[in-house]
Amino acid sequence: MTLIQRTIPRVVKVAGVAGFAGLGIYCTKQFSTVFAESNEPKAVFSGLGFTTLRLQSTETVNHNTKRLVFEYPDKTARSGLPLTSALLAITHPEGRWLPVVRPYTPISDLDESGHLELLVKKYPEGKGSGYLHSLKPGDSLRFATSLKGYQWKANEFSHVYLLAGGAGITPIYQLIRGVLKNPQDRTKMTLVFGVNSEEDLLLKEELDRYATEFPDRFDYRYTVSHPKEDSPYGKGYINEELLRSAFKGPTQNTKVFVCGPPAMEDSLVGSKRSPEGTVTAKMSGQNKSLYPEPNVLVSSLKVGAVSGSAGLVYGGISGVIRSPHPVIHSISCGIHWAVCGTSFWWLRSNILKHHYEDKSTPQQRAYVSALSGGVAGGAVTRLMGGRLVPGLVVFSLLGYVGQRSYNAIDAWQMENANTHSKPFLQRMADSKWIPLKSLSDDDYRGILGEKLLSIEAEIALLDEKIEELEKLKTTTTTTTTTTTTTGQESAKSDPAAK
Ligand SMILES: Cc1cc2nc3c(=O)[nH]c(=O)nc-3n(C[C@H](O)[C@H](O)[C@H](O)COP(=O)(O)OP(=O)(O)OC[C@H]3O[C@@H](n4cnc5c(N)ncnc54)[C@H](O)[C@@H]3O)c2cc1C
Repeated sequence: MTLIQRTIPRVVKVAGVAGFAGLGIYCTKQFSTVFAESNEPKAVFSGLGFTTLRLQSTETVNHNTKRLVFEYPDKTARSGLPLTSALLAITHPEGRWLPVVRPYTPISDLDESGHLELLVKKYPEGKGSGYLHSLKPGDSLRFATSLKGYQWKANEFSHVYLLAGGAGITPIYQLIRGVLKNPQDRTKMTLVFGVNSEEDLLLKEELDRYATEFPDRFDYRYTVSHPKEDSPYGKGYINEELLRSAFKGPTQNTKVFVCGPPAMEDSLVGSKRSPEGTVTAKMSGQNKSLYPEPNVLVSSLKVGAVSGSAGLVYGGISGVIRSPHPVIHSISCGIHWAVCGTSFWWLRSNILKHHYEDKSTPQQRAYVSALSGGVAGGAVTRLMGGRLVPGLVVFSLLGYVGQRSYNAIDAWQMENANTHSKPFLQRMADSKWIPLKSLSDDDYRGILGEKLLSIEAEIALLDEKIEELEKLKTTTTTTTTTTTTTGQESAKSDPAAK
């Protein structure tokens, strides 16, 4: 303990206490809901923290898309979101232990009070979208903090070109809606919207209305890759020809935003098909993204905060057992764990991002975690006065085993995500230790099929028998008739018989 007192200068102790007090406040805020924050919240998504909203109503838009309206706890509250924001929805798909977090873009007016609307397309096997589609009015959904997109400034560009594909129309629509609502903003907008079929033209009514209301500021082109025969829209994907016809006028002071499936974004932005002079931003791109990627430093600090909290608890418990100054022991432990967690995550994220370009396999992630764990853990152990090599080895192993376990759990969950678990009694009946056999619908159908076959066979046998009997009967009758006729004839010819 004296060692700890000697090695931690006063300023570090004060900083530690302040840091963890801050962490405490941060965590309290993180885990509070909007209900707890204030009785009359003005802006529902104003700061960090989770927000739980109740689903008010749902509306099916087409074969795979629904509108979900969520109500604010306070009817006078507003979203507080700036233009081009998305919300991180925390979903709990069936069969998965860990929540699945996905961004969704509000399509309602961000300044409207009382409620918020999402438009959600359901993907086959989609975890987040499948969960959202399963929600019923009255259910609750938790949102994590909002994602801020491109910082829109009125009149920054004279003309913006908006390329949307499928459900990628939602962020674009939010932008169109916000720009046209602001009387100070004179930006002109051209939308090119590509979809698979006519019924995928989401928000068409609203877009048509804007085009009628603001003919000099907003126009659009729709293109359908698999149109009906008499479709009034262009056929095909968003391609160079279509873009050349849509991109009219000067290219100075213009910008192109792209929002759509990753393949579309890559093909449009990656190949730089936009005319010279325009700046292109993609929804999930790297540098000039409408939705920037999560900040590595921020996520590393979060991991550091979580591991620091764990270190605080661990240090507290071990300090009570074996140190005369448990508080200092706990703080020291918390700081070291926080530094270790932050540097581990920072290193790991950067290697995955720059070396593997975020396309690493689970096995590669395990190696990277081992390397990052070893470097971060070894360095922190050394800083604490321990030996470098044992620290390096232990933390490498921890990183490797931790990542491998995560990979295994994730793979197992993916496998089980769409298989419904059987009820307890049925699982008992399926057990090999139970002499009873529980029948699935298919088993039952099979047994019935077999029974039907044997009945049909019996019927066929009976039919044969009946046929034989009938034949026999006919033969007997014929024989009797012949005998009678023959008898009559012989009586005729034999007068004595008369
Ligand atoms: C900033 C931002 C805002 C978004 N806003 C909306 C929104 O308002 N409405 C909305 O419906 N979606 C929106 N999305 C997409 C959404 O976040 C999810 O990615 C989408 O719902 C799929 O998630 P999932 O968990 O259901 O699918 P997953 O379980 O992750 O994937 C299931 C299958 O669907 C495929 N898939 C997943 N996403 C796409 C895609 N975009 N295009 C083609 N195939 C895909 C996967 O390859 C996989 O085969 C937004 C995305 C971003 C980045």
